[in-house]
Amino acid sequence: MAEQPEQNMDKATMEKITSLAKRRGFVYQSSEIYGGQNGAWDYGPMGIELKNRIAAAWWKEMTQLHDDIVGLDAAILMHPRTWEASGHVENFTDPLVDCKKCKARFRADQIPPENIAEKKCPECGGELTDTRKFNLMFKTHIGPAEDTASIIYLRPETAQGIYVNYKNIIQSNRMKIPFGIAQIGKAFRNEIVTKNFIFRTCEFEQMEMQYFVKPGTDVEWFDEWRKRRWAYYEKLGVKMDHLRWHQHGPDELAHYAKDAYDIEYLFPMGWRELEGVHNRTDYDLGRHTQYSGKDMQYIDQDNNNERYIPYIIETSAGLTRNLLMVLCDAYDEELVDADDWRTVLRFHPNLAPVTVAVLPLMKKDGLAELAQDIRKELKEDYATDYDQSGAIGRRYRRQDEAGTPFCVTVDYQSKEDGTVTLRFRDSMEQIRVPKAELALRLKQEIKAYKRIK
Ligand code: ATP
Repeated sequence: MAEQPEQNMDKATMEKITSLAKRRGFVYQSSEIYGGQNGAWDYGPMGIELKNRIAAAWWKEMTQLHDDIVGLDAAILMHPRTWEASGHVENFTDPLVDCKKCKARFRADQIPPENIAEKKCPECGGELTDTRKFNLMFKTHIGPAEDTASIIYLRPETAQGIYVNYKNIIQSNRMKIPFGIAQIGKAFRNEIVTKNFIFRTCEFEQMEMQYFVKPGTDVEWFDEWRKRRWAYYEKLGVKMDHLRWHQHGPDELAHYAKDAYDIEYLFPMGWRELEGVHNRTDYDLGRHTQYSGKDMQYIDQDNNNERYIPYIIETSAGLTRNLLMVLCDAYDEELVDADDWRTVLRFHPNLAPVTVAVLPLMKKDGLAELAQDIRKELKEDYATDYDQSGAIGRRYRRQDEAGTPFCVTVDYQSKEDGTVTLRFRDSMEQIRVPKAELALRLKQEIKAYKRIK
């Protein structure tokens, strides 16, 4: 394992990432013209492409590459009893304190304990209120009457949609334990403190996989899923010295968990959770049995119809938090020569919003038309961009900053011999390639891609 740095010495800062994200159309503040909406963000043309590719990479890993995992897309609105059964109504709370003087609001577990003990605001020194429990679930009403009978919640995690469907999936898809169900979708939490850009938001997306196992095999499967999830980030090309494990201590464990590890990433603000791997035991299915009155036992037909409530190993990653990680991980500033710097996003080509940009050296003499023809051909297989304005060096820099791994430049020689320049984002190396071979060459380059910095 690579030696891990104590703190972040990268060139990426949250200010630079936030400003680049806006400038290049990755992420905008929600409702910006009204002063912005706290805890909500909009994904622009580049951001939605990046988010879709991160989701696709995870989906492929979890479903296509695992014969024993199937997908699901459950509704955000669920029967309110779900959240009583899951324990969220009772337990999904954060400790909250307010400053009576400056009105700042804090999570009591995120400020120094002496401030809580002395009831002293860490920002202005004013008096703090008593700590009170605050439930993070968003509540709304279904139907026209706004009474307690019509209360419904926006799901705070996608997992419960999987649990309530686990028997449906066994029946419709003839699944046998051990097997998994994967889901990507929105989740909502009324977070007390939202800061650090899209790291912690009130509306976000999760990529969760619930793996159903026989009790007694859970510890083994828990270790196996920890290994698999670590290997996944390695395959994605993430800087491995920026990842580490954090095991939950007894006071951190969620009400349902027997054991839990977070994969933490070294973000610009320090080490923070990226994904959790949890042994949720038979808690959730046991509670749904109790609350719904339905039998949630698995019947093992290969083993004398043995019945049991499966244990669940969960891998739970934030999609939007993964996007922030990918942006921070890719960010680099490089001295090209003398005092010439470039900003470059070193995305894996499978994640880059644009895979290849086609650039005619000049607009005139038929070069633009030739470049458009080449783009049209590449479009079938790749996300492309086209740019004909400004000096070629400046256009390369624009693509570097957007994280485009390949540029194809069409020049006068292209008209003569049908070759084009293929330029690589990371090394800035340029080679000549016959245009007829471009699509295949790109495929090979993507497959063989290794991050060099
Ligand atoms: P935290 O301790 O940071 O509040 P958590 O331990 O409650 O997070 P989980 O419930 O395990 O988080 O959620 C699984 C994953 O969902 C997290 O690892 C994270 O990537 C993502 N996630 C959770 N809450 C948020 C949020 N408010 N905004 C963005 N992503 C989130």
